[in-house]
Amino acid sequence: MDTWRSAAPGEKLRGAIRVPGTDVEIPFTVARGPSDGPTVLVSGGVHGGEYPGIAAAVSVARRLDAAGLRGTVIVLHLTNPPAFWGKSQYWNPLDGKNLNRCFPGDPEGSASERMAAAVTEIAKSADYWIDMHGGDIHEALVPFATYADLGTAEVRETAHRMAAAYGIPRLLVSSGFAGGTFETGAQLGKPAILAEAGQMGQLDPDSERTHVEGVENVLRLVGVLPGDAVRHAEPVVYTDSIWSRAAAPGFWRCAVHAGDQVAEGDLVGTLTDVYGDLLQEVTAPQSGEVLFVATSYAIGADDPLFAVAVR
Ligand SMILES: [Zn+2]
Repeated sequence: MDTWRSAAPGEKLRGAIRVPGTDVEIPFTVARGPSDGPTVLVSGGVHGGEYPGIAAAVSVARRLDAAGLRGTVIVLHLTNPPAFWGKSQYWNPLDGKNLNRCFPGDPEGSASERMAAAVTEIAKSADYWIDMHGGDIHEALVPFATYADLGTAEVRETAHRMAAAYGIPRLLVSSGFAGGTFETGAQLGKPAILAEAGQMGQLDPDSERTHVEGVENVLRLVGVLPGDAVRHAEPVVYTDSIWSRAAAPGFWRCAVHAGDQVAEGDLVGTLTDVYGDLLQEVTAPQSGEVLFVATSYAIGADDPLFAVAVR
C-alpha cells in the first residue's frame, strides 16, 4: 500500500512518493481525521520556481491537526523536485517538459509524464484538488484563482465556490489548458482549482499567506477543517485569457506591467534578434487586464510573453 494511504484515523504522517522508473521522490504529509469525510489533495511546486506555493504547502502541512479534521488532507510539499533543485522555471530538467502540461500522465512515459501519473493516482482517490502556483522565476503576475470550464455543472459550481473561497479577487474560468492539474481534476469529476500568487522567483510573505489562508478556507468550505469558511467579496470573474507567445528566440522588451489595463491593439512589447532587428511586435489582442508578463530579456521560441484577461 502506498504510504500516503496508510494514515490511521486521527493520525498524521510524512513520507515521500517514489515515482516508478525515476529517482524522483515527492515529499508529502497526510493527516486523517478521527471521523470520515472528504479527501483533499493540496499540491505545491508543480512548477519548481514558484516558491510561495511551496512554502505554503509546508506551512499548511505543519499546521494540520489530525485530531480536528473530518476526512483527510494530503499535501504534496514539492511536486516537481528536479525543477526546484535545478532552479528551472517551467521545465523539468529530467526531460525538458512542463509538468503542468503532462497530466494525467503516463506511467510508461518520460519522467514528467510518470510524475504526473503518480500525482493523478492520488487525485483519483481525492474528492477535491487545490494546486498552488504563482509567477515563475521570470514571470510577473497579478494573483488569480482559476478552474476549468469542464465537467458537470456540479463540479464546475463547486470549483467556482472553492476558487472564490481562496480569497483572491480575480477568478478566471479557463478553457483549453491541456495537460494541467485542474483540467485533469475536472475530467476525473473532481472539483479542482489552481491558485496563482507570487512572482519572479521571490518568496514573498504576502503571497505565501494568501496561499495558506486560501487553502485553509477551502478546507473549511468543504467541511474538512472545523468552522465556517470566511466569506470574501465576490471576485471579478474573467471568462478566459489570451496568451501571446514568442514566434522565435529573441530579446524581449516588455512595455506593460502585470495589472495594467490595455486596449486592443496597444503595444505590449517587442522581440528583437541579437542585433536589435525587430522579430515580433506584440500587441494586445483584446482590451483587458494584463494577468502576466515575461520579465526575462532572454526568450525562447514559443515562450509565453504575456496574457490578457477576457471578460
Ligand atoms: Zn505554475
